[in-house]
Amino acid sequence: MTYSFGHREGVFWTGGEAFETINPAHPGIVSGRYSETRLEDFDTIFATARHAALEWAATPGLRRQALTETWLDRIEAATEEIALAITLEMGKTLADARGEILHSLKEARFAVAEASRPIGEVMPSARPGLRNMTLRRPRGVIVAATPWNYPVLTPLRKLAPAFAHGNAVVLKPSEISPAAACLIAELAAGLFPRGLFQIVLGGGHVGAALTGHPQADGVTFTGSVATGKAVYAAAARNLTEVQLELGGKNGIVVHDSEDLDACIDQVVAGAVENAGQRCTGISRLLVQRKLAAEVEARIATRMSRMRVGDGMAADIDMGPMASRAHFARVEAAIAKGVAEGARRVTAGTDGRQEGFFIRPTLFADVTPDMSLAREEIFGPVLSMLTYEDIDEALSILNGVEFGLAAALYSNRNDIVQRFVSEAEAGMLHVNHQSAIDANMPFAGIKNSGVGAPSIGRSAINFYTTEHAVYIKS
Ligand code: NAD
Repeated sequence: MTYSFGHREGVFWTGGEAFETINPAHPGIVSGRYSETRLEDFDTIFATARHAALEWAATPGLRRQALTETWLDRIEAATEEIALAITLEMGKTLADARGEILHSLKEARFAVAEASRPIGEVMPSARPGLRNMTLRRPRGVIVAATPWNYPVLTPLRKLAPAFAHGNAVVLKPSEISPAAACLIAELAAGLFPRGLFQIVLGGGHVGAALTGHPQADGVTFTGSVATGKAVYAAAARNLTEVQLELGGKNGIVVHDSEDLDACIDQVVAGAVENAGQRCTGISRLLVQRKLAAEVEARIATRMSRMRVGDGMAADIDMGPMASRAHFARVEAAIAKGVAEGARRVTAGTDGRQEGFFIRPTLFADVTPDMSLAREEIFGPVLSMLTYEDIDEALSILNGVEFGLAAALYSNRNDIVQRFVSEAEAGMLHVNHQSAIDANMPFAGIKNSGVGAPSIGRSAINFYTTEHAVYIKS
C-alpha cells in the first residue's frame, strides 16, 4: 500500500517538492508519496478558508454539530483503513492504532457535545434600559500543526472542537505520517463548505509559513518545545492567539503501594505505550530508596519479556521508532546516559538489521543532574531515581523545565495531598499511570503548554472569542 493524495483546491494543496514516507519497521518500503504545498499558494488557501469560515459561522450551531458528528461517524466506519495508514507510516501496532482512533473519537464527540452548551451569559447592567450579555463567536480561521506520534488523535483533538464551534481549519500534519490526516480530510467530502478543512503538506518551512501567516486567527500547535517557541514567536508578531501543547519529562513517584505488582504493571505500561513516543509517557521513575531494589528487578523482568516488532504482526507489544532521525535521537540519548554513568539495566537496541527498533530500556542509578533525568527522550526509556522522603521526591519531580503529566503511587492521604497541591504538572494522576479520559482538559504548564488546554470544557476559550454585548432599548 502506497498512499498518495493529489492536488485538490480547497482540500489538498500540493505541487511543490516531492517527499516520501517510509515504513519504520521496513525502512526500504515506501509508505506514501506526496508533494509539498507551494508557499505561493498560501494567500489563496487563507482566502478560501476565510470564505468557508464565514459561511460556516452563519450555519446554525446545532446543524454544524450534527454535520461534524456525521463526519465522525464516517471516520469510525473507516477505522480499519485509517489504522492501517497509521501503522504503515508511524509504526505503532495495529491494535494501538485502532485504540488511538477509538479514543480520539470519544474526545471528538465530547468536544462536539460541549459546543451545544451555553455560549453566553446575561449580566446585570449599570444603566436603565440596558441589557448586558456576553456572547461567544467562532474565532475564524484556525491553523494547526501536528506531530507524528498520534496521526489521527492530535489532528482530531483540534479539528472537532474547531468545526463544532464554527471555525475553518488549515492543518499541516507531520511530514512523517500524513496519510491518516489526509484520509480523514477525504471523509469530510460533501459535508462542510468548500475549504472549511484544508490540508497543507511538508516540513518545518511549510509549518512556519502556516503558523506565521497574518490571516490566521488562532494557532494550535502540538510538538516539541523548541518548535513551539518558534511558533509562539511567529504568532506574537501577528498578535495571534495560540494553543501550544509541547513536550514532557513525566515522572511517576512510587511512594507506597498495597499491590506492588499492579503498580509496576502501570509504570511499565506508562513507559512503553506507543513505544514511549507519547507526550504524557512515563519517562522518570522516582522510587523511595527502601523499595528501589525490588522495583528495579520487577520492571526489568517485565521489560525483558516484551515483544518488539513490526506493528502489523499480531503477537507484538511494541513497534519501532517512527523515523530514522528519531531512532538516531533515542539511540544517542541512551549512549549519553551510559556515558554519564547511569546503569543500563535492560538492553537498549534490538540488534536487528532492519527497522528502527529500540527495546524497552531501564536505567538505574540516575541522578537529577543527568540528561536521562532532564531531557525528553520520547522513546521506551525509563530513568529510575531514588529519594528518601516526599520533600526530596517533589524537588526532583519539579526540577525540570516541563510540566505535562505526573503520577503518584501512595495510599497515604498526606502524601496524596502534597502531590496534588505541589507537583508541577498540568495532569496529575494518583494510583495509576498517566492515561487520560476523553472529557478532561489536556493541560500542560511550565514549558509543556501555553494557552487554553484542549479537550475538556476549556477548549471553548481557544476556539471562540468572547464579546461583551450592550443592548439599549
Ligand atoms: P516537532 O516540533 O518537530 O514538529 C511538530 C510539527 O511542527 C510538525 O508538523 C512539523 O513539521 C512542524 N514544524 C516544524 N518546524 C516548524 C516551524 N518552525 N513552525 C511551524 N511548524 C513547524 O515535533 P515532532 O518531532 O513531530 O513531535 C514530537 C514532539 O511533540 C515531542 O516533543 C512531544 O512531546 C510533542 N508532543 C506533545 C503533545 C502534547 O499534547 N503536549 C502531544 C504529542 C507530541
